[in-house]
Amino acid sequence: MSAPASIPVLLPVFLVTDILCACILAQLLALRKAGVAGTRSWIAANIAMVAYLPALGLRSVLPLVYSVVLSNGLGLLAASLFYIGCARFLGRPTRSRCWLALIFCALAGLLWFTLVADLIRLRVIIASGGISVVFVATAHLLCRHRPPGQGAAVYWLGAACSIATALLHASRAIYYGAGFGNLSDLFASTPANVISMSLTAALVPGLSMLAAAMVQQQLLSDATWRAERDGMTGTLTRQSFESRIVADLQRATITGDAFCFVLADLDFFKRINDNHGHQTGDRVLVAFTELIRQHVRAADYIGRMGGEEFGIALPATPPAEAMRVAERLRQAVAAQHIATDSGSLRYSVSMGLAVHVQGDTFSDLYRHADQALYAAKQAGRNAIISHA
Ligand code: GH3
Ligand code: MG
Ligand code: MG
Repeated sequence: MSAPASIPVLLPVFLVTDILCACILAQLLALRKAGVAGTRSWIAANIAMVAYLPALGLRSVLPLVYSVVLSNGLGLLAASLFYIGCARFLGRPTRSRCWLALIFCALAGLLWFTLVADLIRLRVIIASGGISVVFVATAHLLCRHRPPGQGAAVYWLGAACSIATALLHASRAIYYGAGFGNLSDLFASTPANVISMSLTAALVPGLSMLAAAMVQQQLLSDATWRAERDGMTGTLTRQSFESRIVADLQRATITGDAFCFVLADLDFFKRINDNHGHQTGDRVLVAFTELIRQHVRAADYIGRMGGEEFGIALPATPPAEAMRVAERLRQAVAAQHIATDSGSLRYSVSMGLAVHVQGDTFSDLYRHADQALYAAKQAGRNAIISHA
């Protein structure tokens, strides 16, 4: 490419980008300790990016063959590593071989069209076209595979920034590659160049900031999940179960929807601990909660009320249906075998069912379910009783 006479004019733009990239690099390095997948690749992408811009600036100093290969190689490497970071973060294939092949072919092409045939237009098409391809793939990845249950805005914004970056590079490849633009203006501070390079300079650190935001969002969602759950069974803690059910009861009071609450308590659980040990007791608790999950719908939720007692909330469920769910669960528990060192272990569960009526608070519902559960125990256990 021709000697970039106007690089000094664009130099502040590159400097600002480089400083921002270095700051985000520090942020990503701090987040690395959390061990979220993809962070290392994003850090590597930032390092390549921080090195890319000075390499671009050294075009006037370095021999063309080095500067063309070095700067464009680093640019493509940064883009590919950013894609790999996104893929790792989202648990998708990284397509590393594909990107390696792209970088290798691009470098070979750049060398050929510098040393063998000095064709600047083709160099621009290869360098800018390659980056466009990587960012189109990144946008597709972020749109299609964003994790459910997390704020979508950051992923849509990431996809939009990736598309914008791809479009800027593609338009440069078409404008200069197809012969519309004057090649002596490639790095000159023409209005089009200043606009496109300033936008690229904002989009590149912007994408890294969004990557850091994805990591933070994931960490926050993991921490919230852990804070609300019982560590052993993964069911809600009593406190979070209660706040969720209180909100649901308020909704049910307004909408008039049915709402049922089941209180389930394992029978003679103390004996299981005494005969088979506490660890086996723990395994029974985990197996029991897994069985509950298999028998309820996605909208239902389970809370550990204490020890071997669990609450099951069944929103928008009429009493007859709640009774059927509880009965199927009771039968599944009675049929389950837990393998232990001293052979197979069987256990059973008793349940009390309470139906929400207008004006009932959670403590009313809990009291009714507890009374029904007590009656089920009195009736000989391995039974379900509905309150009133
Ligand atoms: P019932 O049929 O009347 O419910 O009898 P039970 O033996 O199940 O009830 P009890 O309240 O006498 O005993 C409950 C036992 O559950 C006592 C306690 O040590 C045990 N337990 C509570 N939490 C855990 C736990 O996290 N792991 C294990 N292994 N045992 C627990
Ligand atoms: Mg019990
Ligand atoms: Mg109990």
